[in-house]
Parts: sequence; structure tokens; C-alpha cells
Amino acid sequence: MEEETHGIVIIGGGICGLATALALHRKGIASLVLEKSETLRADGATIGIHANGWRVLDQLGVAAELRETANLITAYHDAWLQGNKSNLIPIRNEFRRVNRKDLIETLAKNLPVGSIRFGCHIAAIHEDPGIHGAVLTTMDGSTIRAKVLIGCDGTNSVAAKYLGLSVPKPIPRTVLRGFTRYPHGHPFGTEFLRLRGENFFLGRLPVTDDLVHFFVTCPNPSTGITKDVGAMKDFVLEKLQECPAEITEMVRASDPESLNVVAKLWYRPPWQVMFGTFQKGAVTVAGDAMHAMGPFIGQGGSAGLEDAVVLARSLARATVGREPCDKKTIGVAIGKYVRERRPRVAMLSLESYVVGTLLRAKWHVTKLACVAVLALVGSRSLRHTDYDCGRL
Ligand SMILES: Cc1cc2nc3c(=O)[nH]c(=O)nc-3n(C[C@H](O)[C@H](O)[C@H](O)COP(=O)(O)OP(=O)(O)OC[C@H]3O[C@@H](n4cnc5c(N)ncnc54)[C@H](O)[C@@H]3O)c2cc1C
Repeated sequence: MEEETHGIVIIGGGICGLATALALHRKGIASLVLEKSETLRADGATIGIHANGWRVLDQLGVAAELRETANLITAYHDAWLQGNKSNLIPIRNEFRRVNRKDLIETLAKNLPVGSIRFGCHIAAIHEDPGIHGAVLTTMDGSTIRAKVLIGCDGTNSVAAKYLGLSVPKPIPRTVLRGFTRYPHGHPFGTEFLRLRGENFFLGRLPVTDDLVHFFVTCPNPSTGITKDVGAMKDFVLEKLQECPAEITEMVRASDPESLNVVAKLWYRPPWQVMFGTFQKGAVTVAGDAMHAMGPFIGQGGSAGLEDAVVLARSLARATVGREPCDKKTIGVAIGKYVRERRPRVAMLSLESYVVGTLLRAKWHVTKLACVAVLALVGSRSLRHTDYDCGRL
């Protein structure tokens, strides 16, 4: 079987893996992204990016292009179906909803040709007894030696497993999401509607003047309908029966091609993020592989973008020319990255965990405890969105 050696290897060509490769490239450092899919993976959904994520995209040199197709969102409109309550919270920092496909493609096209190897599924990682960081075995039995290995391989990460991290925990919720186009423009302004019903949570976000993204989260259906998008749509519409017509119409008129179901949501508990091992020599993790946190505060993707900048900045200090230095220097650089990221991602994980718990809470005392923690971390003022991870 084939065997090859590389400097910096990144497993996973999702948002975090591509952003890390691009951040390294902007620092003049070469890397190789190994992606198991045959093409770029981007589902038909959008991703909310707050000021902290835009700061990173600015540094990566791709923000201007992405802003062109993503309108500013200026307020959260929180509404409760029961009791007819509603509340408007202004968003003072930049917040836009970007098409995931645009984000992934824009990051990828700014990388040098040959930076991504598709159809390369890593099955296992072993320690390299020689000078290198790790030995990777692919599904087809080839071997790749990496002096530095960064696992950006999401929730089911083979790199996290190598580091001894436990598997993230499932969240018993299913999400249906999609787009609805309004050929004559939509009337929803620039507000992000967050509508809570007894058994669902609905989000409606304007993307452009005539395009709206929506998602509906609900407890997992008891039957196996999550694989059938049409059946899931009917299931969701049933839950939305009591909503205003503009809501049910939006879901009914959605583009069938854009609909997708996320049947498994995962999170790494905040205490694991706080105390877990994120480094073994020249091997580390970033993005969801490090801190999967579910969608509750919409920060998983942006936190992965921040990881990319901090990691590339640290590694740049341990690189000569386009190649990594000795193992010890690399180890120190990765240690610095982990120390810098841990408090930030632990706080985000905690906030997301508490918001998720609050959404499902049945007991008054649980709700009160959640509200108290969220007040302490400044959740309502969106403090986490104003974070600046520094210059590349
Ligand atoms: C419903 C939902 C809504 C969300 N909304 C937001 C939001 O509004 N804002 C926000 O910031 N975040 C949001 N998130 C979180 C965000 O989507 C994730 O944090 C982000 O996509 C993680 O990116 P990643 O690159 O770390 O991992 P992934 O996107 O999971 O990418 C991992 C990549 O690694 C590849 N891979 C995996 N294993 C291997 C292997 N063994 N070998 C080779 N390749 C491999 C996969 O094919 C994949 O391409 C949301 C999440 C969900 C589920």
C-alpha cells in the first residue's frame, strides 16, 4: 500500500477545516485537507454569523464577497405562541445569515489548487514513533504520515478519539430547515423571529430581500420519518397548526430541494470542554471535533472560525518557510492554541448547554437556574458575539 509524508494535515473539509487551511495559507504555510466526501459538503441551509465570525472572515479575506448575498439582521423578535407575548431585542453588532454553500465554496476557492483531497476517509490514527506527529490510515488501507495533525472532522471525530475524548452526547431534538422564496419580496424586514410553541421552536431569518431561511426544532418523532423530508414537513406543519398563516404558508411554500432534516444534534458537555485533553504532541482538534455545542446560540461555526485564526497564528511561530519545525516547537505552539481557546469555547459551550436545557425544561426551578446562569454570562446582551480572537 502507498505511504506518504506531509507537514500539516487537516482532517475534514467543513467550515473549520477549510478556514484553518486558508488561515495557514494566508500566513504562507502549506497544508493538506483530507475530506471523506467526494465533493465539498454543504447542505441547503444557512449559518448565522455574528461580529466575532465576521472578524475572522475579514482576516481571511473573504468577508466582502460573502456580505454581498447576506443581508444585515438587526433584531431578535422573540414570540411565544401561548400567551401571545412578544419582545424585540436589538442586535447592535453585525449579524448576517450566510448560505453554507457560499461559505464553504468561498473558503475552498481561495486555497491553492491541490490543497483538498476528496474521497479520503481516515479510518484510524496512531502515534508515530519516529519524528512525525501521527500516522493516518485511510479506509482503503493507505498510510499518511503527518508532522502536525489537526482534526476538524466534526462530531464523530477520529482525531478526538485518538486524543481520548469521549463521544459527544446526543440532543433529543430534530430540526427541519429550508428556504422560501418570495418573488415580490418578503414583508419580514430585518428581524430574526424566534417563535416558541408548546412543542416546537421556530426560527425565521431574512437572507436577502426575497429569500427567507427557516428552521423548526421539535422533540424527535417516535417513528422513523426523519429520513423522509416530505413526511417531516407534514409532521412539522401539524405542530404549527396554531401559528399565524404567514408561518404555515412559509413552510408550505418552501423550496422542496432546499429542505433538509438534521436528525442528530450533538454536544460536548461544557465540563468536558473545560477539562478534556485537546493535545497529544503535534496532534490537536478544532471546530465541532473540539466543542460541538448544538445550534442553541448559533456559535458553533463561528467558534470554529476563531479556532482557525488562533491555531494558524500559533503554528506560524513554529514554522520555518512553509514547513513545520521540530516536534517540540510544534508541541509548544499547539499547547498555546489550546490554552487560548479553552476558556472561550468552554464559556460558549456552557451558554449553549444552558439555553438548550432551558428550552426543554419542564420544572420552574430548572428554568430559574438556567435564567440565572444566562444572566451571569451576559447572554441577553449577546456578549459572546462581540469577541475578538485577534489578528491572524
Ligand atoms: C441545526 C444547526 C444549526 C446551526 N446553526 C448555526 C449557526 O447559525 N451559526 C453557527 O455559527 N453555527 C451553527 N451551527 C453549528 C455549525 O453548523 C457547526 O459548528 C459547524 O458546521 C462545524 O464545522 P466543522 O468544520 O467543525 O465540522 P463539520 O461541518 O462537521 O465538518 C467536518 C468535516 O469532516 C469530514 N470528516 C469527518 N470525518 C472524517 C474522516 N474520518 N475522514 C475525512 N473526513 C472526515 C466531514 O465529511 C465534514 O466535511 C448549527 C448546527 C446545527 C446542527
